[in-house]
Amino acid sequence: MSGLLFREVTLLDGRRVDVRVRGDRVVEVGPGLDGAGEDVVPGAGGTLVPGLVDHHLHLHAMAAAERSVACGPPAVDGPDALRRALAAARPGADGWVRGTGYVESVAWDLDAAGLDRLHAGRPVRLQHRSGALWTVNSAGAALLDLAAATHPGVERDAGGRPTGRLWRADDWLRDRLGADGPPALDAVGRRLTALGITAVTDATPDLSPASVAALAAARADGTLLPSVHLLGAPLDADLPAGLTAGPLKIVLADSGLPEFDPLVERIRAAHAAGRPVAVHVVSREALALLLAALDVAGGRAGDRIEHGALVPADVVADLARRGLRVVTQPGFLADRGDDYLRDVPAADHDDLYRAASLAAAGVPLALSSDAPYGPLDPWRVIAAAVDRRTRSGAVVAPAERLGAAAALAGYLAPPADPGGAPRSVAVGAGADLVLLTGTPDDVLDAPAAERVRLVAVAGRTAHAS
Ligand SMILES: [Zn+2]
Repeated sequence: MSGLLFREVTLLDGRRVDVRVRGDRVVEVGPGLDGAGEDVVPGAGGTLVPGLVDHHLHLHAMAAAERSVACGPPAVDGPDALRRALAAARPGADGWVRGTGYVESVAWDLDAAGLDRLHAGRPVRLQHRSGALWTVNSAGAALLDLAAATHPGVERDAGGRPTGRLWRADDWLRDRLGADGPPALDAVGRRLTALGITAVTDATPDLSPASVAALAAARADGTLLPSVHLLGAPLDADLPAGLTAGPLKIVLADSGLPEFDPLVERIRAAHAAGRPVAVHVVSREALALLLAALDVAGGRAGDRIEHGALVPADVVADLARRGLRVVTQPGFLADRGDDYLRDVPAADHDDLYRAASLAAAGVPLALSSDAPYGPLDPWRVIAAAVDRRTRSGAVVAPAERLGAAAALAGYLAPPADPGGAPRSVAVGAGADLVLLTGTPDDVLDAPAAERVRLVAVAGRTAHAS
């Protein structure tokens, strides 16, 4: 059986050791191990950590975003820049120009007519950076036959005419566009392993059978080496090999909070099927709705809050008492923190993307990217959890800064236990491993993707630089 022998690596606890890998397991850890025909990886004292787990991202949306034109800050910061970006964009095979990352600060609340003024010659679909909204221009609306559409997310004006805005209608849109299956994941797979990410949780809700099949195929043929945990697997799904089902994703969209009773029923159905829930909660209203629904439905170990963008101080202890986990994204502070500080009332700034106060109260806290909506690079997210600094240099809720070790630990818990105990490099552990340049202190002082030297997934080298 092939294997790897890491020579002279430093573990996070400071021990300088050799680490032997056989198959997909770590089988020996100690100083001065004898070689036994393995591939030897000289560690030079660098830090060996377990592979990182991104606890919330969207794989197919990441793949699609790579073939799209950026339509938001910092590249695009106003109507003229957006007009230029759309004009320069190459259309996809379907003839459409696909834009992502749009936010109202670029050109306000666009509808089809507004988008026509920026680009009318080709069909355009423009995704809001929240991921919740697509806006199409008139050429796009005609191709989609929006006037005849029945999807509830197709927004209409008082006269019943479609406005060009499509709320949470991704599956419908994909069907209408006639795309031949979800986009390929090869570039996404390479990016993940190059960053040291060896497991991901895909948080896309209500995955279609085609999406699940495409993810399974990408796992099977090695396109996607990291293990994949799904929040959007249907309750009755029999998942193919290579995929695992996590809690059931439920979206409490700020664009239209669900009715109370159906929400309670959905939570009950998930729990009855043995699945906790993973609930998208951004606003304080959504948080209050979720807690009220859990009061009726009851909680289940493993229930989690995705984002928790605004958690009032007096709710923190309640989350801990209920055993709810929070999966947060400090990378948003680095990318959009200035927008939050401008748009969120000052009295609420201390509630933005809490981290340290949750951890101190005993709420299990996991970090993640929400890519493509937030920055994927986990080292950047860890740095953002530590400094909480915006582009302009402001610091969002400084009391919520995490220590670097705690931030890294937010990426080290297993997919099925976000916020739980961090994995370690130890005999019997899975051989998902990342070798970094620098000692643990160096890594924690300056976390950076440039430190990633070698990544092993299930005992096999997946990336080396
Ligand atoms: Zn998400």
